[in-house]
Amino acid sequence: MTRKCYVTTTIPYVNAKPHVGFALELVQADALARYHRLLGRDVRLQTGTDENALKNVLAASERGVATQHFVDDNARAFRDLCPALGVAPDEFVRTTEPRHRRAVERFWQRLRADDIYRKKYTGLYCVGCEDFVLERDLVDGCCVDHGKPPVRVDEENYFFRLSTYQSQVEDLIRSDRLRIVPQTRRNEVLAFVRQGLQDISVSRLAARAGGWGIPVPGDPSQVIYVWIDALINYVSGLGFGTSDGWDEYWNDDTLKIHVMGKNVWKFHAVYWPALLLSAGLPVPDVVAVHGFLTQNGQKISKTLGNTIDPVDCVREFGLEAVRYYLLRAIPSFDDGDFSTERLKGVYNADLANGLGNLVSRLTTLCSRAGFCCYVGAASPAAPEGYHEAWSRYEYDGALAALWKLITVVNQEIDRAAPWAALKAKDPGSVHGHLERWLGVLHSIAYWLAPFVPRASQTILEMLARDPIVPSAPLFPRLVYLQ
Ligand SMILES: [Zn+2]
Repeated sequence: MTRKCYVTTTIPYVNAKPHVGFALELVQADALARYHRLLGRDVRLQTGTDENALKNVLAASERGVATQHFVDDNARAFRDLCPALGVAPDEFVRTTEPRHRRAVERFWQRLRADDIYRKKYTGLYCVGCEDFVLERDLVDGCCVDHGKPPVRVDEENYFFRLSTYQSQVEDLIRSDRLRIVPQTRRNEVLAFVRQGLQDISVSRLAARAGGWGIPVPGDPSQVIYVWIDALINYVSGLGFGTSDGWDEYWNDDTLKIHVMGKNVWKFHAVYWPALLLSAGLPVPDVVAVHGFLTQNGQKISKTLGNTIDPVDCVREFGLEAVRYYLLRAIPSFDDGDFSTERLKGVYNADLANGLGNLVSRLTTLCSRAGFCCYVGAASPAAPEGYHEAWSRYEYDGALAALWKLITVVNQEIDRAAPWAALKAKDPGSVHGHLERWLGVLHSIAYWLAPFVPRASQTILEMLARDPIVPSAPLFPRLVYLQ
């Protein structure tokens, strides 16, 4: 249990402002970090921005602004999203920082010399994917995800001997030493690896990258492939290449968890472990893969101009409502829909009527019955199914375990009808009930902390007051619901 824990999000491209899809990832990673802290672990949470991508260069030039200015501006929006969602990362890495560049250079030099070679290569590159794509995967000559034709690249690059690591990567995944959740993704990754791993190009002509990116050590005519550069953020943010104590959170005893979307598992579950093996460094422990978000039933698209700004959403509904919606109403692994109408419905049903109403009922009862403060265990037992859901990275399942108890207590209050005893001036007869209900509420509030930390703290403070007084509504009902 003393095991340290390191949780990361991926680092998004900064070719646009953040949308709700990245808010989901941030909130999942933050909840994980808070859960492990609640268990008493020493946890480090990291996020950041991927700024060396070619698509940032292209997006800046489309707008006629300097690339650095453009990435600075968008990186700020990503940084500001953290406090807006109640996320406080221990480290925020920008890949244009000198410390990151140092780390990437050192990492490159650490790769086994035999694993890097030069080769002339022709391929189709999709800038949207920042990856080579195969002719057979194109539809009408365009990338399926980006709707644009890839560009033909014909140049000599450095290659990484990924093929050498096929059986080692397969063993890591099969043995769950590198655990991939959910199981369906694990199967997908294993099938991909078993198909045979090809060596990968790990550099680009600097000229083609517009001079943007990190030069290959000893060969400034090439820049390091942006995905290799980006993956190294997981150790550069810890001080790899710049500080001696960098491995405090990157060692075999630390539980290292990468949270990501379903489009990037190839890089995290296959390329990254192979690169680490080549560099003689420990591999991550968990790759947790979430689905994609649609928005009001539509694909989130900058060209449709329909993107919901997560910060606006927080301003309208409060950060805890947005956190709760993302973690409860969006399936932990599958695709889900973000709609403000649905958010209002979930808010009213679960937060205003469910949790909020229970708190208000109980504090009113306590006050009427002259019940003094409730002193609960420092770490109360969790509801049935709660830790099990966490062990499967099912955020929605852990919340369901808490809400099941809310329903149980609300039903018990209805059945016990304590109001009658209070009317009959017999408050003593309800104290036994209250003691039990407050105990359950205490446990719910305590284990809610990873999801809605402020509400959790407010309830715990209410319970500790002597005497307990009726609370202001924790989650006022949204009355403009249609
Ligand atoms: Zn693409």
